[in-house]
Amino acid sequence: MLKQLVDYHTHTTRCGHATGTMEAYVEAAIAAGLSEIGFSDHIPMYWLPEAKRDPGIAMRMSELEEYVADVIRLRERYREIPIRLGLEADFIPGREAELSRLLEPYPWDYVIGSVHFIGEWDFDNPAKTNRYAEWDISELYAKFFTLETMAAKSGLFDIMAHIDLIKKFGHKPSHDLGRVYADVAAQIAGAGVAIELSTAGRRKPVGEVYPNPLLLKECCDRGVPLIISSDAHSPQEVAWGFAEARALALATGYTQVCRFEGRKRIMQPL
Ligand SMILES: [Zn+2]
Ligand SMILES: [Zn+2]
Repeated sequence: MLKQLVDYHTHTTRCGHATGTMEAYVEAAIAAGLSEIGFSDHIPMYWLPEAKRDPGIAMRMSELEEYVADVIRLRERYREIPIRLGLEADFIPGREAELSRLLEPYPWDYVIGSVHFIGEWDFDNPAKTNRYAEWDISELYAKFFTLETMAAKSGLFDIMAHIDLIKKFGHKPSHDLGRVYADVAAQIAGAGVAIELSTAGRRKPVGEVYPNPLLLKECCDRGVPLIISSDAHSPQEVAWGFAEARALALATGYTQVCRFEGRKRIMQPL
């Protein structure tokens, strides 16, 4: 049923907030009938000094090499499904060169770009939602989308994750977002990166996919390539909600989705 679909946004226990063995993720992908699975664990917090890197957010720098080796090793064990090597990398403005150096030695199939931080605030952390009260929500959205489009245009990423993550806990500006969405979609289209249709938002307080269907439509109209992802933090979440996501993508006007090999984008029918 999910045959042409892949799930490229999955995590491992190395990040300190996901569960299940890597084998269990692969087996869940096979059971769901996916055509590929990719791992995209959180990049070590390269922009912070070692002592400030939270082991509950991402793997340690010393674990990166082993993570890559483990994904590659899994390919020998499971010949029935291609296993892609990816990474979810935080975009931190001003740290692009460090990120590029960190990515350089490894044979990634794709790199997913994420904005999880506004300044020092990891605004998607459920323990830090009190800080939303410090912001005018319209300004916060503007700040978030500025970072998101900078990230898209950085040339560091193949896929942009959850491009309206700022809505995660249900905070919405009072004004209509139509013009904001059109501008964001135009900038992402110009950057030439793919976006995720992520089912993770449906499991969060906001209760809807990332991106909002209106933003998805703006992206579709401008030819932004799409990939459907779960952002699984447990094997049970692999391919979660994919049938509904595919139906939404088709209803929006998408006829193709993409996959990646060695950071090369390949389009296939949806
Ligand atoms: Zn995570
Ligand atoms: Zn993720």
